[in-house]
Amino acid sequence: MKKLALHWQIIIGMVLGVVFALIMAKFEWGSTFITNWIKPFGTIFINLLKLIAVPLILASLVKGVSDLKDISKLSKMGGRTIITYIFTTVIAVSIGLAIVNIIKPGKSITEETRTELVESYKSDADSKISAAESQKNAGPLKALEDLVPSNIFKAASDNGNMLQVIFFAIFFGIGLILIPEAQAKPVKQFFDGFNEVILKLIDLIMLTAPFGVFALLAALVVESPSVDLFKALGWYALCVVLGLALMIGVYILIVWIFTKKKPAFFINGISPAQLLAFSTSSSAATLPVTMERVEEHLGVEEEVASFVLPIGATINMDGTSLYQAVAAVFIAQAFGMDLSFGVQLGIIATATLASIGSAAVPGAGMVMLVIVLAQAGIPEAGLALIFAVDRPLDMCRTTVNVTGDAAVSMLVAKSVGKLGTPKVKDWDDNYRKE
Ligand code: ASP
Repeated sequence: MKKLALHWQIIIGMVLGVVFALIMAKFEWGSTFITNWIKPFGTIFINLLKLIAVPLILASLVKGVSDLKDISKLSKMGGRTIITYIFTTVIAVSIGLAIVNIIKPGKSITEETRTELVESYKSDADSKISAAESQKNAGPLKALEDLVPSNIFKAASDNGNMLQVIFFAIFFGIGLILIPEAQAKPVKQFFDGFNEVILKLIDLIMLTAPFGVFALLAALVVESPSVDLFKALGWYALCVVLGLALMIGVYILIVWIFTKKKPAFFINGISPAQLLAFSTSSSAATLPVTMERVEEHLGVEEEVASFVLPIGATINMDGTSLYQAVAAVFIAQAFGMDLSFGVQLGIIATATLASIGSAAVPGAGMVMLVIVLAQAGIPEAGLALIFAVDRPLDMCRTTVNVTGDAAVSMLVAKSVGKLGTPKVKDWDDNYRKE
């Protein structure tokens, strides 16, 4: 019997999770049952993914950088990666701004709804605002300062900083290029083998993915807030989702134009990672799967994928930046403020930077939104307005964040002659014949 493709297995897991939670909600004890007996499996699944993210970045990036054999290649690839990332982020913010200015979702919020929302979600909004406090007071070179860890174990620890791990791995890889081959060889072989082990672990974890997403979605459904306030935010949510959908279209188009790879090839290759991004709301947790899919199914060679993707998961958040632009203008509209063209141009710059600074974990984009609001002179308390729908939108924007990283990795790979034929073909027997 032909095995069901992974993305179908995951979709079935997601749908069953939602259906199961809806049925269980009918019983008085249903929600507690899901929280006590189902949710932990979702947490274990996310933990497993996060567990291998740091070793994966270390091993694959050290190996990737040292395979380049030449530092000038690294800077060439680095330059292209950063420019393409910024380029796609600016497109995303612009799409978001265009949509929110055309649809004007904030105009449909009555003063009564506004007050109700602000009161209901005041404490949630306050916690995000205080989380953003240290970022707001940061000096101009803070980001650069934060890039360099003083202790690699601290950088890699629980609430560690992925950019610091990336920095260390690249630095180590450069050292490896510079020492004599005889000494470098055993170190490289070690990282090579280590990398293979991690990739095998990803395969093993993915075997449990359908069950993991079942648990995650069931827990989300029983924990979601009432639908009443949800409805008031319908137009705003629509703007974000519409913008995100357009952004997926943009990726498909640029991949098609620049790499000649058909839309179905790209989407089928990356879809399991997209579904996991949607279920976990975390680009960091999804990273191991994104890397595996891009290398094995989209044909990006390892030295490019291992360099472009971990950096992308941390700094390239097109979905987040688009959402931040829409949310900022929506809040301004709901407070009856008219934003001038100049202020909106400023939002392009701050949302681009704020998305770069957002951590790749659930809800992080909302913390950095505080900075965008502050810069544009929009009341920060307005954050409470969008809280009710933030989680579902987080799921959608994380999907776009991950898709953007994959698309850019294909473009960069193509530009340096490292886009080959995928090792695995599991979805369409015809695409190689084309
Ligand atoms: N959850 C998003 C991510 O991990 C970040 C955000 O909150 O927008 O990519």
